[in-house]
Amino acid sequence: MEIKNICCIGAGYVGGPTMAVIAFKCPHINVTVVDANSEKIKAWNGPVENLPIYEPGLAEVVQQVRGRNLFFSDDIAENIEKSEMIFMAVNTPTKTEGQGAGMAADLRYVEACANDIAKYSKSDKIVIEKSTLPVRTAEKIEEILKENSNGIHFEILSNPEFLAEGTAIEDLFKSDRVLIGGDKTKSGQKAVQTLVNIYSNWIPKEKILTNNVWSAELAKLASNAMLAQRISSINSLSALCEKTGADIDELSKAIGMDHRIGPHFLKASVGFGGSCFQKDILNLVYLCNHYGLNEVAEYWHQVIKINDYQKKRFTKKVIEHFNGNLKGKKISIIGWGFKEKTNDSRESASIYVAKWLCELGAKIEIFDFHMSEDKIKKDFITYDFITNNYPTILSPEKEKIFKSSHAIILMTGDPRITKFNFGSSCVFDGRNVLKLASLKSKNKIISLDKPND
Ligand code: ADP
Repeated sequence: MEIKNICCIGAGYVGGPTMAVIAFKCPHINVTVVDANSEKIKAWNGPVENLPIYEPGLAEVVQQVRGRNLFFSDDIAENIEKSEMIFMAVNTPTKTEGQGAGMAADLRYVEACANDIAKYSKSDKIVIEKSTLPVRTAEKIEEILKENSNGIHFEILSNPEFLAEGTAIEDLFKSDRVLIGGDKTKSGQKAVQTLVNIYSNWIPKEKILTNNVWSAELAKLASNAMLAQRISSINSLSALCEKTGADIDELSKAIGMDHRIGPHFLKASVGFGGSCFQKDILNLVYLCNHYGLNEVAEYWHQVIKINDYQKKRFTKKVIEHFNGNLKGKKISIIGWGFKEKTNDSRESASIYVAKWLCELGAKIEIFDFHMSEDKIKKDFITYDFITNNYPTILSPEKEKIFKSSHAIILMTGDPRITKFNFGSSCVFDGRNVLKLASLKSKNKIISLDKPND
């Protein structure tokens, strides 16, 4: 099948950047990203400085290809109909009710998306799962498509995204690997080859792995679980450093120099956030429980428990510093996104720290380089902040003075914070980044691996 038109359903963190890069690298293919949210589509078609997603390098790519062979539209029906290949990049949050609540993925959006594909298709299609989905979701999608197909043939592939927010464009340009899972049937393998041909426009052949669908689906969950496990491991050791007098950075360096371990993901912090790690691990745990593998489920669940423990341990340090009396204390939190270089705050550790401190009566103010005020305000609602003590939000200026704060909580490693004036406030370093001599001389710094005093 020759691919002339690609449609991607979902213009979010996955769909937007991925399609921008496919369009950039495949000028012979028209790529249209559709979304049920017309406001979002409007923003994708608006000034590149205000795209709905901030990723380094994204605006430049969009600037070059938008209107050439990259389009954003809210006409879902028309674009499904005219495309030979359809990516599903809708969100898959954790279920909040029903069986598997708090653990299993909510497939409502995926199912709605599959229903749309079945409804509007008039010719054969290759349908690609791009969103992170629990293993064997392809089966479910196939069921929906077949039930409503009217004789149209749908071939379902799994092509999990591995991009990390903050480096998404770089990751897409130079992927470590691209995984494509498909059926072993002749038509399945043909569809796999069609997608391989698209990626081959810029990814070396040896980095494109073709698997069965289930391996491709599970590989995504397993990769994220392994990465999160490294963070929880180093974070658990930061607590031990606090007791023993060891230094967590020295420990990380020593461990990371072992070539079998390597240096990545060994930086201690207040805990991981983001839309993937927690969600994917909970999915994995749910899956293991489902198959009666209770010990395996418990093993992976512990990674999440350590992450929660670390957020609480860090917050306790702040509470102890004020001897439990936070009423009216002005505390500035710097960094709201779950990491630097993103405007995504889903499951960000900052949210939990801020929420707990607000509940104890602290007056929180928030500063972030990339998050809009609107998005931060939405988090107060989503994460149930007490309504009579919402934090205030500061504007993202390049230089900032925090003279009147009783304490600063650093939740980002963005180097621009070195330009900030923290007055004489005590600084809680949630990223263990403050080795800055200039600050050290003036400010008391409380880190993850040292006792408060
Ligand atoms: P991710 O990080 O997985 O990309 P996002 O929430 O950033 O998740 O993006 C998912 C996008 O999918 C949202 O913009 C949402 O409006 C869109 N979406 C969800 N369901 C549908 C659907 N059935 N049809 C079209 N768009 C959808």
